Amino acid sequence: MVTQGRDVVQDVSMLKSLTGELVNEVVQACQQFHGGMGYMRGTAIERLWRDARILAIGGGATEVMLDEAAKRY
Ligand SMILES: Cc1cc2nc3c(=O)[nH]c(=O)nc-3n(C[C@H](O)[C@H](O)[C@H](O)COP(=O)(O)OP(=O)(O)OC[C@H]3O[C@@H](n4cnc5c(N)ncnc54)[C@H](O)[C@@H]3O)c2cc1C
Repeated sequence: MVTQGRDVVQDVSMLKSLTGELVNEVVQACQQFHGGMGYMRGTAIERLWRDARILAIGGGATEVMLDEAAKRY
């Protein structure tokens, strides 16, 4: 779409907000499955949970992405 000269900011903002929230839902379910071990530092699932959090915060928080998408309607 970019190479076709299209403005992709709205689509990208919507996609980033969706995937950032979705990965958090998925990883939280996985962490819950692991019980107490899912909370312990040094486990893969704890690291995955922390890494997932930043996807809905860094480089534009979900709320900011939704704002960017809404502005372009
Ligand atoms: C590990 C890490 C690495 C980073 N690396 C980089 C990097 O390499 N380069 C770089 O440029 N930045 C980097 N950052 C910064 C990152 O991009 C910002 O943390 C991110 O954009 C969120 O901004 P903020 O922390 O100022 O939070 P804020 O924007 O202050 O957000 C705090 C809260 O307020 C909400 N909020 C903010 N604005 C609105 C609004 N308009 N409407 C509703 N709610 C709103 C947010 O959704 C969030 O819940 C990094 C951050 C971390 C944690």
